[in-house]
Amino acid sequence: MTSASRFLESPIEYLRGVGPIKGELLRKQADIGTFEDLLFDFPFRYIDRTQFHTIKEAREGDTVQLVGQFVELKESGFRNRKRLTGTFQDATGSVDVIWFRSVKWIKQSIKLFVPYTLYGRVTRYRSRLNIAHPELEVHSKTAKGQRAALDPVYHSTEKLTAKGLDSRGRRKLIENLLEKLHPSHLPENLPVYLVSKMKFHNRYQTLREIHMPTSMEAKDQAVRRMKFEELFFSQLQLIAAKQQRQQSLRGVVFETVGEHVHAFYEKNLPFELTGAQKRVIREIRRDLKSGVQMNRLLQGDVGSGKTIVAVMTMLIAIDNGYQCCLLAPTEILAQQHYQSIRKYLDNLGLRVAFLSGSIKGEKRKAVLYGLRRGNIHIIVGTHAILEDPVRFSKLGVAITDEQHRFGVEQRARLWRKGGETPPHILVMTATPIPRTLAMTIYGDLDVSVIDELPPGRKPVKTIHRTEGHRPQVINFLKQEIAQGRQVFIIYPLIEESEKLDLENLQQGYEKLLQWFPPPEYQISVVHGRMKSEAKEFEMKRFVQKKTHIMVATTVIEVGVDVPNASVMVIENAERFGLSQLHQLRGRVGRGAEQSYCILMTGNKTTTDARERIKTMVRTNNGFEIAEADLRLRGPGDVAGTRQSGITQFQLVNLGEDTRILQTARAIAHRILEDDPQLAKSINKPLRDYLLSSPALLKQWHRVG
Ligand code: ADP
Ligand code: MG
Repeated sequence: MTSASRFLESPIEYLRGVGPIKGELLRKQADIGTFEDLLFDFPFRYIDRTQFHTIKEAREGDTVQLVGQFVELKESGFRNRKRLTGTFQDATGSVDVIWFRSVKWIKQSIKLFVPYTLYGRVTRYRSRLNIAHPELEVHSKTAKGQRAALDPVYHSTEKLTAKGLDSRGRRKLIENLLEKLHPSHLPENLPVYLVSKMKFHNRYQTLREIHMPTSMEAKDQAVRRMKFEELFFSQLQLIAAKQQRQQSLRGVVFETVGEHVHAFYEKNLPFELTGAQKRVIREIRRDLKSGVQMNRLLQGDVGSGKTIVAVMTMLIAIDNGYQCCLLAPTEILAQQHYQSIRKYLDNLGLRVAFLSGSIKGEKRKAVLYGLRRGNIHIIVGTHAILEDPVRFSKLGVAITDEQHRFGVEQRARLWRKGGETPPHILVMTATPIPRTLAMTIYGDLDVSVIDELPPGRKPVKTIHRTEGHRPQVINFLKQEIAQGRQVFIIYPLIEESEKLDLENLQQGYEKLLQWFPPPEYQISVVHGRMKSEAKEFEMKRFVQKKTHIMVATTVIEVGVDVPNASVMVIENAERFGLSQLHQLRGRVGRGAEQSYCILMTGNKTTTDARERIKTMVRTNNGFEIAEADLRLRGPGDVAGTRQSGITQFQLVNLGEDTRILQTARAIAHRILEDDPQLAKSINKPLRDYLLSSPALLKQWHRVG
């Protein structure tokens, strides 16, 4: 270990101004345990100290910097509920300034009729604007020049603030750290030519500027470099993983397109494939012949016909003497796949089996035996397939549907089940992932997209309604039911409280019983707390058209296929994320009839919620929706990314930093193409950096 890294690894307690109590708090509350952690916990915004405001223009919610004087100070309240109110005045007006703490001390230290610079946030109390606990400084024209123009603002918590570790306190600590920091503590991690080509500060300067900017431009440049680093190193790893896979992982070569593929194509294929389906099958076919293990993501909006692609892929494997598995995230989905695959493969003489946690005893034994012996061609099921006792004779293709519920680790498990050669992997998802995001999450996968729906589909009509329209909505549902259609009514899942969630559904259900009284109307209910047999039973009743309405929480979210259902009502639609709304809407519009999605909201919604609803009403295009979702929520929340093991970025916002991402990706590509092992001396900084960071190194090895 070098002395450079040793300095940064010092426990945070050793920093001047920290000590054991604050140290413990920083560890617990902010995950800051070392000098390095503190240094790399960046401000999330900056206060521009060059900007001054007038009281007249101050609005509720603004953070303002004012120059003025106190004309009056009043103490009120008793004992520990004392309060100090000052009247602060400039040429344009006056505002109340309030203190709840240290009242006595502040009262003594403030001088009336002396100019102060005041910095704080404007809030409203009763009808008056006020500023509580502002930063105050006797105003002086010369003092202004001495301080940094931009003050960094750090994330804090109530507990940190209580111990003086608000932004101001953090700034102090950072100052203490930067005092001790030496350029040799931060060796360059990018090749020299790159630093100069990108016009970056060196690393030392970058970290100084990001915490204590000397100018707006210098700060921007520092932020740009750190964003670049975040993206560049993740891209470097993803691309390297892909290259290594291509070089080292031989794949089973599927030469023939044989009897089953032909038989299926000629006899069983119930429709003409769409152009997009054909193209995707060709892409997969090419992979399967290449001798390199396939690792392909198949994206296709709900209803775009991914299942048939999976079926064709599996048939190719079978024709070459291999077995296949198809995994789905839930029992219901897995069952549905099982049924539809059996239907597709009817009369082809292939053995398709089902496996989930609920398959037990003799039945289970038989399945495991059949897989080991190679008698079973296709196994469809849940993650139970990934468990250790499950062994294949020769696993050639593994497919997962809605992979966002299968992490990297599970994928690796699949690899180990096949025998000598890892199986080809096809990952299917209906989550339309914007290109920028796909690059960062799935950089190690090849991507195929089905961007065309089967012919004859009528786009779902999406309508926004509020409580006032309830009677019309109910009438409309009755009309649809009278025409033999079925209806989904979805209630939001309240993550924090399963109980509330259920109550919500329960109340909804009771109202529905009044609006749609039995026996004329039959209602199914499915929610997350039900046993899977009960769920299954209710689902079946709906699928078999024994019930008219399916009331559910989002458990039905993915995959469920009921072509006769033509209306999707989403209650409290404002509480759903965009991609979730889109997924839900995808449950209808699968038949030939015109389908509808009705988004019910209260009259009051947040701006973001309104934006989501508007987007849904405007477009059916999954990619457009995904882009909007990314913009509105940031990538952390876009469906699937959290579970997929993607690095959470500190500074990068994938909705905005597309340009930097593209640059970082292109550069990472070029470097690895030229020097796959990063062995050249010009790339030594990269190699050293990857080797020095345990977290990065782990990822680097995992992919190898
Ligand atoms: P998803 O991509 O959502 O998994 P599915 O594979 O379940 O879509 O297909 C949705 C529906 O479209 C199914 O009922 C399927 O039979 C039908 N379908 C798929 N491909 C075609 C096609 N080329 N022409 C007509 N119907 C198709
Ligand atoms: Mg599907």
